[in-house]
Amino acid sequence: MTADHLKCKECGRTYPLEALFVCDYCFGPLEVAYDYDKIRRRATKDRIAHGPSSLWRYADFLPVESRPQVDLQAGFTPLIKADRLAAELGLKKVWIKNDTANPTHSFKDRVVAVALQRALELGFNVVACASTGNLANSVAAHAAASGTEAFVFVPANLEIQKIIATAVYGVNVVKVRGNYDDVNRLCTEIAAEKNWAFVNVNVRPYYAEGSKTLAYETAEQLGWRAPDKVVVPVASGSLLTKIHKGYWELGEVGLIRRKAPVVCGAQAEGCGPVATAFQQEQEHIKPVKPDTIAKSLAIGNPADGIFALEVARSTGGVIENVTEQEIVDGIKLLAETTGIFTETAGGVTTGVLAKLAASGKIHATDEVVAYITGDGLKTLDAVSGTLTTFEIDPSLSEFEEQVLEGTATDKVNAEEAAMDESTPDAAAGQREKDLKGASH
Ligand SMILES: *Cc1c(COP(=O)(O)O)cnc(C)c1O
Ligand SMILES: [Zn+2]
Repeated sequence: MTADHLKCKECGRTYPLEALFVCDYCFGPLEVAYDYDKIRRRATKDRIAHGPSSLWRYADFLPVESRPQVDLQAGFTPLIKADRLAAELGLKKVWIKNDTANPTHSFKDRVVAVALQRALELGFNVVACASTGNLANSVAAHAAASGTEAFVFVPANLEIQKIIATAVYGVNVVKVRGNYDDVNRLCTEIAAEKNWAFVNVNVRPYYAEGSKTLAYETAEQLGWRAPDKVVVPVASGSLLTKIHKGYWELGEVGLIRRKAPVVCGAQAEGCGPVATAFQQEQEHIKPVKPDTIAKSLAIGNPADGIFALEVARSTGGVIENVTEQEIVDGIKLLAETTGIFTETAGGVTTGVLAKLAASGKIHATDEVVAYITGDGLKTLDAVSGTLTTFEIDPSLSEFEEQVLEGTATDKVNAEEAAMDESTPDAAAGQREKDLKGASH
């Protein structure tokens, strides 16, 4: 293993690689620290290219003894050049990292894959989590795949799609009457009582490292370089800080030229404590009560918010937020220009991308990667009331009257019809001439 120890992010004290997550001295969060010389020697571009088509191709950068025996092959999702979206926004080089294409359709499969493997290595036989939804789906699926018992705690008002897509795996689903911050507090209490691996509580340092693979993959898919700017959704702030760490590490071990991208964060106005702190230039994050359709980002008291703020500031980025309407518009804009249907979190990301392009904070020539972290089928209600469809009896006249009439394509159809009318006449005339010619 290239991971060497856990280190307090506040005071720098070090700890062994066990199920520890806060510093005994200052209560700061612990983070995995590596022996970068070891990684530099091992992780060549060639070795990575010959690795599996999953996040495990970067196992040398992850805090595990070995790859799992059985797992869902999360990661190595497509990086899509989004030219039509770029044109719409007045930009030239926009890429979408499509993390909807994961086993349970969100980026959470990355963090869970790493957390579960480390939890099993540390001897745990029950996994658990406090979830805003996607983590629940992923913990349940990974637990099922590996045959591990699981307890999954979610806010009781979660989208039904996410509850079903968790319970189907046969795990214990506990709906807590409260918001995510209440669920998280409860789980911290249970974690102190039970010898369970709560992926985002007592094994959080390992869990969080999984997000770095989003940076590694992007760099590899771009031909081993970093983009100029990235846009990343922010809930607890962990994902954003780890994408930054991932690019930094690639520079550190010489796989890309040392160039940290400008890191921009995306939140919903209805739960934007990090964006507010950024805008008001505060040093602390004031917790809020979430009220947004972007439930996967609805963390009012973000554990890593302060670190996300630091990353945005130190790289020259921003943390921006969008309204509920802009979230819906963002979902539709992405779908209509790229063919990628994202959940509300991706609507937040796309909305912020559009806002930053409009305000000039992202320049026309910047190469930008937007991280789309979850699938639209998870939050159908967010858009269902805003879409138009036709319903007709199976008859041609109904189709013509109800569908073609008054639609945008109607004019085109009318023109085509006019051409069709003239063409047969002309063709018939020509045939007549030909016939006459032949008879003479
Ligand atoms: C959890 C989640 C995030 C953000 O995660 P944090 O690391 O807590 O900031 C982003 N997008 C989706 C879809 C998520 O489920
Ligand atoms: Zn400390």
